[in-house]
Amino acid sequence: MLTEIIRKHALRNRKQYGATNPRSIVGKVIADFPDAKKDMKTTMGEAARICEEVNALSEEELEEELSKYTFEEKKKEERGLVIPNAEEGKVVTRFPPEPSGYPHIGHAKAAFLDYELAKRYGGRMLLRFDDTNPEKEKPEYVDAIKEGLEWLGISCDGEPTYTSDNMEKFYSYAENLIAAGKAYVCTCPSEKVKEGREHGRPCACRALIPEEQKSRWKKMLEGSYGGGEAVLRYMGDLASANTALRDPTLFRIILFAHYRQGEQFRVWPSYDFAGPIMDSTEGVTHALRTKEYELRKPLYFAILRDLGLREPELVEFARLSIKNTKVGKRHIIPLVKGGLVHGWDDPRLPTLRGLRRRGILPDAIRNFVLSFGLKKSESEPGWSRLLTENRKLLDPVAPHYFFVPNPVKVMVEGAPKRTAKMKVHPNKDEHREYPVSETFYLPRAEIEGMKEGEVFRLKDLYNVRIIENMDELKAGYAGEELREGKKLQWVSEPLACEIWKPGDLFLNGEYNPESMDVEKGYAEKAVLGLEPGAMVQFERYGFCRLDSKEPLRFIYSC
Ligand code: ATP
Ligand code: MG
Repeated sequence: MLTEIIRKHALRNRKQYGATNPRSIVGKVIADFPDAKKDMKTTMGEAARICEEVNALSEEELEEELSKYTFEEKKKEERGLVIPNAEEGKVVTRFPPEPSGYPHIGHAKAAFLDYELAKRYGGRMLLRFDDTNPEKEKPEYVDAIKEGLEWLGISCDGEPTYTSDNMEKFYSYAENLIAAGKAYVCTCPSEKVKEGREHGRPCACRALIPEEQKSRWKKMLEGSYGGGEAVLRYMGDLASANTALRDPTLFRIILFAHYRQGEQFRVWPSYDFAGPIMDSTEGVTHALRTKEYELRKPLYFAILRDLGLREPELVEFARLSIKNTKVGKRHIIPLVKGGLVHGWDDPRLPTLRGLRRRGILPDAIRNFVLSFGLKKSESEPGWSRLLTENRKLLDPVAPHYFFVPNPVKVMVEGAPKRTAKMKVHPNKDEHREYPVSETFYLPRAEIEGMKEGEVFRLKDLYNVRIIENMDELKAGYAGEELREGKKLQWVSEPLACEIWKPGDLFLNGEYNPESMDVEKGYAEKAVLGLEPGAMVQFERYGFCRLDSKEPLRFIYSC
């Protein structure tokens, strides 16, 4: 108890100040555990020892350990999912994915924030497919996003909507802007547009009168210009220090069949244009976006103001990235297409499918992503924090089995014949039972270093003594008495099983071809009664998910 409390405060103190020492934490320790005062010598001695240990932890280890503790502040932070000008019962958020890839943990962060906020304020959350880029979007991705949200337990209010169903509305708003002299058709080559933006220089197109703009816009819609030959630009402020305001593109010509709208449209709105209009007209009160859009905030409001539309609140939060992997679709697509991973559900990927296949529970993802809240500061957590959340959830429920990696056969002389009985879970009165005689398979790595005379215990069975471990391995029965020391998992029949162990896909920014380890061994027979998707705890090994029964394969989770 005392050591646990000291450790908790030492960890936090180190996190806050870079290092910890007994004097900085003793006050908090006593506050949490007044008995510590009775024997200050022990308390300070323990504190000194623990602070030293904690100071020696790596950043990763520190984070991992810290995430096991709950502090008052942490709870407050969750409660602190607060948004400005929110009226109880009237909050409307939306999750606006583009169906251009499989959803990943970054989407889970955005979606959980939208969902939790709507729930906390007794409001609604909408799902909107932001699908105005025909080149990238597919129905397959729409389905994957719906399925991903359902798996996460996020239910949206009402039917999902599709930005691309509003094209006529966008055209009519565009015409309002053109008529008001707030938008112009630009036919300059893209390099020239870029250069003009950089130097804050207007082009000749900008100076044409609205009547002329109107007819050029008509030509855009009718097909007189080819792909890339004309864009509609916002009449912003070319001199603005904020480059997002320097006449951004509102519409471009994209000659590509749309997965939902077919070939009826050739002029497509940009996110800058469609985003605010959709948010405003769909009744969104609080639009959450990742921080990199912060510069575009004035543009969002300028467009709404020019169109006389209601202005929602914009709330920014940090984009999630994870150390040694890549989160964005743009990075994941080439890995999948290039065959560098085994598809969208490769357990090394941060896609929802990959996470599910790795046995990461939706609640672990939820707890993990919400732990960042609406904070804007970017951090790059490693997998370990997510895995710690997962372990916390699995530990009380996952049934226990034995898996013996890289097995070595051992004959135990004098072994009594009997039925071994092992608990399925320490908290449950359910058992797995096996008749055993003298043949066992044990983890080679554990046996290899053992010396003659060494005694260990077969877990939940009896003790065994090494008789010879030179060229040949000989062992003998060594009694029943419970003892300190090594307890090994075992199996009595060779049921071949492999375990995929996902590792870091990237190391120092480079693709790591050795990121998937495959470990072969034997599993106990009872696992044959499980169905794919089942989570287990292989004792002395880790939590794994049954991936396939034929061949028998698990994926290491955490
Ligand atoms: P990607 O880089 O994967 O293409 P995106 O932002 O283009 O990401 P969208 O489908 O447009 O993907 O995103 C839908 C929502 O999810 C947006 O609100 C976006 O801000 C959010 N989102 C996407 N990636 C992340 C991330 N890594 N962390 C937090 N939110 C994210
Ligand atoms: Mg995108």
